[in-house]
Amino acid sequence: MSMKIESTKILKKMTTEYFQSFFPKEGKRPLTAWCSSIGPSEILTAMGFQVYYPENHGALLGATRTSNDHIPKAHSIGYHPDICSYLSSDIGAYLNGQTPLTKTYGIPEIPKPDLLVYSTNQCREVQDWFGFYEKEFGAKMIGISSPWKLGVMGSEEVTYVKNQLKEMIKTIEDHFKLKLDPQKLKEVVGLSAESSKLWKTFLRKAKSTPAPFSFFDGCIQMAPAVVLRGRADAVEYYKTLNGEVDQYLATNPPSTKPEFRLYWDGMPIWGKLRFFSDLFKENNTTVVGSTYCDSWIFDCLDGDNPLESMAMAYTRIFINRSEEIKEATLKNMYEEYDCDGMIFHDSKTCPYNSNNRFCLPQRLSDKFNIPNLVIDGDLNDLRCFSEEQTVTAVESFLEQLRIDKL
Ligand code: SF4
Repeated sequence: MSMKIESTKILKKMTTEYFQSFFPKEGKRPLTAWCSSIGPSEILTAMGFQVYYPENHGALLGATRTSNDHIPKAHSIGYHPDICSYLSSDIGAYLNGQTPLTKTYGIPEIPKPDLLVYSTNQCREVQDWFGFYEKEFGAKMIGISSPWKLGVMGSEEVTYVKNQLKEMIKTIEDHFKLKLDPQKLKEVVGLSAESSKLWKTFLRKAKSTPAPFSFFDGCIQMAPAVVLRGRADAVEYYKTLNGEVDQYLATNPPSTKPEFRLYWDGMPIWGKLRFFSDLFKENNTTVVGSTYCDSWIFDCLDGDNPLESMAMAYTRIFINRSEEIKEATLKNMYEEYDCDGMIFHDSKTCPYNSNNRFCLPQRLSDKFNIPNLVIDGDLNDLRCFSEEQTVTAVESFLEQLRIDKL
């Protein structure tokens, strides 16, 4: 049903180069900053840091199904089983002295941080997660405190975050004896804006019927949008990827419509991407869009207005919005993608990105007649997920959709 994306070979080469650049064959290791995945990484890049994203490492632990080797280690030192399993996978792997980066990208260990920067725009977990490494490595840590769960955003919230970004720049300048070049920041934010636009263009191509790729392909293709943000290679990659999809669509005109098109809300279950991809394919269904992949679309980033646009972009993210905004966003995306139903992933250890817990599925069903299914699982901890129960639930849901269509 979906195309085979050849650009993935380029992606693999790029991500390998990215990880290996933390460990150059000659010369000193680069000054390294860790950043939460929707943190202000453009400032760090513009100041000359090589930026590493622990959540990306968490996702890799999940995707390689090694998380459950490490989660118990973090629990054994006091991290509760209900908190983020990215955190417990990552800290557990660190304590066990292991990382999938070695096998996947050929680097000896995780890159050690000189600086840790997080934003609470997504959750509080990142603060404690980064705090662990602050103590472990004696690195400088800076937190951006974000206003939470916003409805309509005003200039007050943006100014509040923008002022913290200014303060952060000053702290880094003083601590590392560096100077931010404003021109460089404009350039980096401009590149981030461009790659974000191209990422969105790619994702929206799944509006075609049949969709050329699924949410599960998007979970692979999103790597540059996350870890290469603000760099020219991310822009080049998404141009190539979009070119490949356009070519595919031109030579594979619309034919048979897949029976069902679904929208996915919430985190992926990293260790089960193939399982879900196969399950939906077998049922002639495509998951065409997701709130998760959309999380790295930053429409308002603007190289000509870097700090204010970053403050705006990183505060208005979906995970950080009110129930009303989330409801309206999901309804719009459902319609835009011409969907037949919606899946909510109730991710056991990420309440922030599990949107089924405050009646949103019921409201979408009652107000807009959007059929939906809640799947129990977790982003990384596979003990919270049952293949058998999921197959039964998904197939019953699709059967109900079929009956409703008669
Ligand atoms: S948003 Fe969820 S998955 Fe991401 S770091 Fe926070 S708790 Fe973990």
